[in-house]
Amino acid sequence: MEANQFREFGKAMIDYTAEYLENIRDRRVLPTVEPGYLRPLLPDQAPQLPEKWEDVLKDVEKIIMPGVTHWHSPRFHAYFPTANSYPAIVADILSGAIACIGFTWIASPACTELEVVMLDWLGKALGLPEVFLACSGGKAGGVIQGTASEATLVALLGAKSKAVAAYKTKHPELKEADIISKLVGYTSSQSHSSVERAGLLGGIKLRSLEPDSSNRLTGDIVERAIKEDIESGLIPFYCVATLGTTSSCTFDKLEEIGPVCNENDVWLHVDAAYAGSSFICPEFRYLMKGIERADSFNFNPHKWLLVNFDCSAMWLKDPTWLVNAFNVDPLYLKHDQQGSAPDYRHWQIPLGRRFRALKLWFVLRLYGIEHLQAHIRKHIALAHYFENLVRGDHRFEITEEVLMGLVCFRLRGSNDVSEALLKRINGRGVIHLVPSKIRDVYFLRLAICSRYTEERDIDVSWKEVKEAADEVLLAQK
Ligand code: PLP
Repeated sequence: MEANQFREFGKAMIDYTAEYLENIRDRRVLPTVEPGYLRPLLPDQAPQLPEKWEDVLKDVEKIIMPGVTHWHSPRFHAYFPTANSYPAIVADILSGAIACIGFTWIASPACTELEVVMLDWLGKALGLPEVFLACSGGKAGGVIQGTASEATLVALLGAKSKAVAAYKTKHPELKEADIISKLVGYTSSQSHSSVERAGLLGGIKLRSLEPDSSNRLTGDIVERAIKEDIESGLIPFYCVATLGTTSSCTFDKLEEIGPVCNENDVWLHVDAAYAGSSFICPEFRYLMKGIERADSFNFNPHKWLLVNFDCSAMWLKDPTWLVNAFNVDPLYLKHDQQGSAPDYRHWQIPLGRRFRALKLWFVLRLYGIEHLQAHIRKHIALAHYFENLVRGDHRFEITEEVLMGLVCFRLRGSNDVSEALLKRINGRGVIHLVPSKIRDVYFLRLAICSRYTEERDIDVSWKEVKEAADEVLLAQK
């Protein structure tokens, strides 16, 4: 493809993208295709000769769109949001043009340096303590990971290398493998599945602790587990607290957990994948009280802060544990300036990395903090709007305090009736929700996901829920 064609194709795609997003409300949120729908629509093999971009673009609408779940539709209420904004889309075009692989500083200095500064900007915007920021002048700093799952694993590996080094100093007679076999970490049964997975990938025991009656991991619970394990000869080394759990957006008691971890030399990682974006608003920062006690903190601007996937922001007070743990230094990756700026290849699992800081830069500059705050506040207000509609109908109950953009609710009575409700809602095809279950209580989760959502959209969603409930309750009589 030559530059002239690229210009035409690119402009046509920008037009298509704007049309798609501005009219997304009119598309059916969940596709109706069956598994295997796509193969019969495509030739058996790639074309021998170039095709016309106009034909490819036509096929996007004909072949791809029928199989797309429209995550940015105001009718989409499943999981948690994934972010989408024009500045981030444009930044990704530029990232594609530069297409550098910024694994070391010299591999593309702007790629590394913009990331360092953006993570400082973002950390300040969230009110993170200085001890996490590169501009504090110490060892600390931020990095963009692909996902929160990677951040949890990377933190675990840093904690592992720190614990092994500390234990070896105290017990030089012990072999590294013996120490690793005694390591034990902690999290809550309400934390995301990626935490359990990090334990499996990291090859260490990770205990899934039962939270308190309000589904929050507390200092007492962690302390009890640490004591038990020390008594059994194990080495507590890592703990993951969640701010905004996936099932119900509950916040662990960070203020209590932090001191317990600090006293026991346990690395505290805070996973705020979804809810972390809300800390851009000062009024929600009470929910991260105690954050200064954490060793690492992570949230996903790609969930709720208008930066398209992938952009998972992670800060570490002392990244040297990671840098040292992952330091494999072949000659072809060495450079003269090594040590004077981060070589991000040591801070992550893969070697390669895209120029993701560009989209953070574009979003922060083109929205400004005030508009990002307004976005978060609007979603939370819409969640309360839906909550009030639910509370106004005696057939329903709210199962979890609504703090962010997620409403957990169910029909009063057995789980069966709420399961039937969800089946009916999703079957009607106008809106899309997913369920969860805590302590055997099944409930529906309605997340405010789209940046286009208005009260009138919530009215549509509530009408769908109410009518589906009418049908379910009538069928039961
Ligand atoms: N942690 C929490 C609390 C989440 O809610 C999620 C996803 O929803 C994750 C981790 C995983 O996020 P990622 O897809 O970025 O790994």
